[in-house]
This record gives sequence, C-alpha cells and structure tokens, in this order.
Amino acid sequence: MDTMTRRPGTRRGLLILFGTVVALPAATLVFLGVRLLQQDRDLARQRRAEVLEQASDRAVRALADDLGALQKRLSDPSWRPTEAPPDSVYVLMTPGDVRATPSSALAYYPVAPRLREPPAAPFTEIEGAEFKEQALPKALEISRKLAGSADPAVRAGALVRQARILRKVGRTADALPVYSALATVTGVAINELPADLVARRMRCVLLEELARPDDLRREAVALDADLRAGRWPLDQVSHEYISAQLDEWLGPARRPDANAKALAAAVDWLYQQSTGAADGELSPNGARSLTTDGTMVTVVWGSAGQRLAAFAGGQEHLEKEWLEKARKAAIPAEVSLLAAPDPGASRSPAATGAAVVRRSAADTGLPWTVVTTLGSEIDAARLEGRRRMLLAGLGAVLVLVAAGSYFVVRSRNREMALTRLQADFIAAVSHEFRTPLTALRQFNVLLEEADDLTPEKQRIYHQAQSRATERLHRLVESLLDFGRMEAGRRPYTLQRIDGGALVGDVVHEFREEIQGHLFDLRCSLEPGEYPVDADPEALARALWNLLDNAVKYSAARREIDVSVGRTDTEVTISVRDRGIGISAGDQKRIFQKFVRLPAAGAQGVKGSGIGLAMVQHIVAAHRGTIRVTSEVGEGSTFTIVLPKSRDQRPVASDQ
Ligand code: ADP
Repeated sequence: MDTMTRRPGTRRGLLILFGTVVALPAATLVFLGVRLLQQDRDLARQRRAEVLEQASDRAVRALADDLGALQKRLSDPSWRPTEAPPDSVYVLMTPGDVRATPSSALAYYPVAPRLREPPAAPFTEIEGAEFKEQALPKALEISRKLAGSADPAVRAGALVRQARILRKVGRTADALPVYSALATVTGVAINELPADLVARRMRCVLLEELARPDDLRREAVALDADLRAGRWPLDQVSHEYISAQLDEWLGPARRPDANAKALAAAVDWLYQQSTGAADGELSPNGARSLTTDGTMVTVVWGSAGQRLAAFAGGQEHLEKEWLEKARKAAIPAEVSLLAAPDPGASRSPAATGAAVVRRSAADTGLPWTVVTTLGSEIDAARLEGRRRMLLAGLGAVLVLVAAGSYFVVRSRNREMALTRLQADFIAAVSHEFRTPLTALRQFNVLLEEADDLTPEKQRIYHQAQSRATERLHRLVESLLDFGRMEAGRRPYTLQRIDGGALVGDVVHEFREEIQGHLFDLRCSLEPGEYPVDADPEALARALWNLLDNAVKYSAARREIDVSVGRTDTEVTISVRDRGIGISAGDQKRIFQKFVRLPAAGAQGVKGSGIGLAMVQHIVAAHRGTIRVTSEVGEGSTFTIVLPKSRDQRPVASDQ
C-alpha cells in the first residue's frame, strides 16, 4: 500500500484546518489593518486641524502685536511722521487740517488748505470797462497795470482778467505768456483752486484751441507729474475735475493712480469718522480695511486729544509687511488676509474638517479676515509612509500566519502518515511472528502425535523447531533493540575489532539460516586486518538486516555478494543483490522507520519497515555512513562505511 495516498476525508479536514488556521486570522488581520489605516487617517486629519488652528492663532497674535505697537506709537502726542514705506502714508489730522507724509501718496485730501483769493476791490474798474462799457482795450490796459502789483493776490487776479480779455479779443496766443506769468504765483487761489494750477490748466486749454498738440501734450504731462507729486493738496472734487481733463488730453497713455486714490479714500473715510460727519463713534485707536475700486487699504490710527495720527498701507505694503509677518508666524501653514468683513467668515472650518481656518475681523479685532490654509503634502507624505509600513507589517504577519499554518498542516500530515505507518507496522510485525509460531506449532504436533518417528526425522523436526525459536528470538531482540534505540537508551560499547572477521562470522551464521533457499552467498575479502571501533553485536545486527533484505528482495537471480574493503581511513562492508532494486526517488526514504515500498508489499514479502532504520542508527553510532546504489530490476548494493580504528593495539580476543 502506498503510504502517501490521501483519502477524500483528509482533504476536507485539511480545508477546514486551512480555513481556521489561515483564512480566518488573515481576514481578521486585514480587517484590523484597514481599520487601523482609517483611524490613522482620521488622526492625521485631526492633527492637521490642530496644527492649523495653532498656526492661525500665531498669525493673528503676530498681526495683533504689530498693529498694537503701531497704534501705540500713533497715539503718542510727541510722535511725528517719518518716512513712510512704499505704498503707504502717514497722516496727521486735526479738524479742518490734514497733512500727509509723503504728500504724493494721496490723490486728494479730505480738506484742502484754504488759500487766499484775490480781493474784489482792485478789479471793479476792470469789470466795469469789460462788461458794462464793453471797452475791452481799456480793461486790458488796467489789468496790465495791476499785474505789476506787489501783492501776489492782486497780481494773480489781474493776470487772470488780462488773459480772459485777450482771449475775448481773439488774441489767444498772446494769453499764453500771461498764464505763464500766473503760473509763477503761489499761495493764491482762484475760485478755490491754486492760481498756478489754474494757469497751467489754462495754458493746456489754449494750446488745444490753438491746435498745437505737441506743446499741449508736453505741458499736460508736466502738469500730471506735478499733480501726482503732490504739489497741490486738492479736495476730491477738484482732483477729479483736473484728472478728468488730463485723461482727455493724454488719453490712455495716462497712468492710472488707483493706489493713491484708494489711500486717499481711506484717509477721507477716517477724517469723516473723526469729525463725526459719518455715523458712529470712532474709537481713539483702531484699524480698518477699506476697498476702493478693488484696491484694499488698511488704515491704522491712534489719537491724542484733538489730534489723530494714522498710517494707511495699500496692497503692496500689506503683502510686504503684514502678510510677511503673519506668514512667518504661521509656518508651516499659508496665510492670506482678506478685506473685512468677509462673507465666508461665518463658516466654521473645524466642523467641515477642511484644511482652512478663517478668523473674522469680529473675532480677532484685526482689520482683516485672516485665512490660514495647510497644504496636504507634508501630512500626505507622512501618512503614505506610515501606510506603507503598516501594509508591510501586515504582509509580514500574513506571511508568518501562512508559514505557521503550512508547518501545522505539514506536521499534521506527517503525524497522520506516521499513525498509518505504525498501524501497518503492527500488522507487519504480527505477520512476522505468525510464521515461526505456526512452524513451531506444527512441529510440536508432529513430534507429539507421530509415535513412529525415526530418530533422523526427530532430529530434523527439532532442528526446524530451534530455527523457528531462533527466528522468534531474533525478532524479539530486534524489536526490543529498536525500542531502546528510539528511546535513546541503546548503549554502544565500542571496542577495536577486526571487521573482516566479524563479517565472516555473520555470513557463516546467515548461510546456516538460509540453507535450503538455494542462494549463492559469496563473501570476498582480502587477507589482513580490517580494524574498526565497533559494538560487535550491533554491527552484526546491521549486517544481518542487510543480508536479510537481500534475500527478501531478490527475485529470480539468487546471488548475494558480500565484500569488505579498506582505504587508509575507512573500512567498507558491502552487500550486493540482483533483486528487484529501488528507484532513485525511494532510495532516501527507505531509511525512515516503518517505510515499506509498494514493491515490497506487491511481492508479498513480509517485513516491519524498521530494518534499515536500525542499520542507519547503528552505523551513525559508529560515526559511519550507509550508502545505497540501486537500479530497478537490476539489484541493489548497500555499503556501510566505517572509520578505520586508530587504535594500534591488537584486536579483541573474543573476535
Ligand atoms: P522491511 O522489514 O520491510 O524489510 P526495511 O527497513 O529493512 O524493512 O526496508 C525498508 C524497505 O526498503 C523495504 O520494505 C523494501 O521495500 C526496501 N528494501 C530494503 N532492502 C532492499 C533491497 N535489498 N532490495 C530492494 N528493496 C529493498
């Protein structure tokens, strides 16, 4: 019977075993791993939200500190405006008076300084001649005279009239130098506009009339430049009036002044608030962002008594100063500052779990909505690393579980195979016993019942009886020995013997045993000594087992050759038969206990499957090896290789 054949029930059992040992724990592990990953992700999200909240707090604190310090400086009565950074302006306000540093930063002022207007009295004569008498040359004459006045206001009034009359009489080109003269007068207003500004505007008007586009362009550009340089502090209406005209003359080439306008609008707002012109009380210190035509300006103020000092910063200043500070404080988060109030400010970022935190102006007291965001890359990388580690760990555990279950299944298989082998062994051993016992019983009956036996016959029967007894004895001894070997209690007493002599004795004894089996048992050994350190009884048993197998597994060719050889270091004992042989695949297996090849069973040869296991055990105890070479159908050669004894003393006398 093939010892390795599996029954269908066994396969089902293995499947159940696999299910419980591998699939179930593996599925549990995968489930736990996925849960762990989910928790990890949630945790990372929560952590990110915390990091973001803290970054937002830091940004708000940095900005509040900065603005607080600025407000404190501004509310100090001894504070004087210093040079303002680009795109910003310092403003000092008292009711009716607003001063800006630098003055060019503001497009216009909430209130323009009042300049002296020319008095009316000196000009009544001109007016009379010009309008009532319609005597224009006379009026021109008087105005020319008055233009020489030492009083700049009178001079300005006279020049304006002179130019007007010249235009009336069609001498437009002559009016040009008159306006040039007026352009040198400062500190005087004509209809609330500075006289020099009026003069330069009028020159442009005249040049347009005279169709001198190049001159017009040149003068308009110069006027625009002076206007932008803050030469004339104008109110909003005047500024828009002049601006509109310059736009017309210069067309699209005129550079927009959105920043100066937005700063002016912010300062205007603050002035209106401070003078109570608008609703609501202005707090003594504060900050506020205002957007004009899409340009945001932040105005920060502090007051001391009637005096209000302010700082207004445009978009560029916001980015270079405040945003930069907030960004530094909020690292690793990103910050942006939006004009307050921001419509999105009411949304709660923590609730949505998004990586954005918005702090409204109402919450922070800052003039902006502070928006803090956290890029997901840093966390994503960390999370990915952890995920990979977790998966690797999971994989390792799965491999371990698989390996563990493989070993469990294998050892179970082995155990089952062993159980089967043991059962086969008991059956085989029972058979082995039955044969000599049956022989004994039969010869007993013969000896008892047949009275007329010749002494010759009696002798033969007795001999057969003693052979059967001997066989039983050998069997029992062999089993006992095997039991002792298995338990590790078989003592070996090695002594220096002559291997050749031992082989000769065993072969002789064995020949007696198998007489009648018609075997050609040859033994060849060179003369001389074959010294080995051996336990004679054990070594004899090993050789006996090999000889026994050679007989059992020989078929038609009943030849057995025993040979003993030697080298410098080894002594070899070979047993060769011409029997059924052993396939290369089975040659290792046959040394395992209880293993019997199917061929042995098929031939009907009895055996217990422990013979070769014993041989190997004995040979190993002698620090030797056992080899087999065989070919199916050709026979086998078993060779015991033992180390040569180094003992120089003569061999033990009983051998
Ligand atoms: P057994 O009691 O069955 O002979 P052994 O351990 O001595 O047990 O041998 C194990 C198996 O090895 C045998 O059952 C047989 O199949 C095979 N075997 C042993 N010796 C030989 C041999 N000389 N020729 C062929 N097969 C052999």
